[in-house]
Amino acid sequence: MMTDAFIGLGSNLKEPAAQLARAVSALATLPETVLVAQSPFYASRPVGPQDQPDFVNGAVWLRTSLRPHRLLDELQRIEQKHGRERLRHWGPRTLDLDVLLFGTQVLDDERLTVPHRELANRDFALQPLLDLKADLALPDGTPIAELRNQCPDNGLRKLPPADYP
Ligand code: AMP
Repeated sequence: MMTDAFIGLGSNLKEPAAQLARAVSALATLPETVLVAQSPFYASRPVGPQDQPDFVNGAVWLRTSLRPHRLLDELQRIEQKHGRERLRHWGPRTLDLDVLLFGTQVLDDERLTVPHRELANRDFALQPLLDLKADLALPDGTPIAELRNQCPDNGLRKLPPADYP
């Protein structure tokens, strides 16, 4: 059975838009998975310490027969391969990949919380989801558009396509 999974991408180190573009290419080659669409990329002010570069974020829509934890394994493998560096909590990182939504599944264990725990507070995750699918909703039926309207504004700026490969 194929499930629609929505993955959030973020980076604020080492040419973040290029990091994201490489991650999208890696996601497109995952086993048992097709890349349905990729969102525009957005720049935003960092959450937490402000003395770090702006973040660049985006999202992709995958259709996959991988199970959620297997998909997380693959995301973590891509993060490692792309030289993820965690210098401090909430600090700069080269690449962060999150499972934002996995079909209508609700998961909460030591490795995986889906929908992603912080989704409702992050315009930089909600907006790319809306770009991918305007009528997307949480498993409980709450429209992502409604969350986006209620979300604190983080100074999101859509990057022109020329700014990312
Ligand atoms: P962070 O790098 O701060 O996003 O946190 C990574 C940790 O979050 C990993 O150990 C994952 O097991 C855990 N995690 C929990 N829920 C999720 C999710 N929906 N997507 C990605 N990682 C998750």
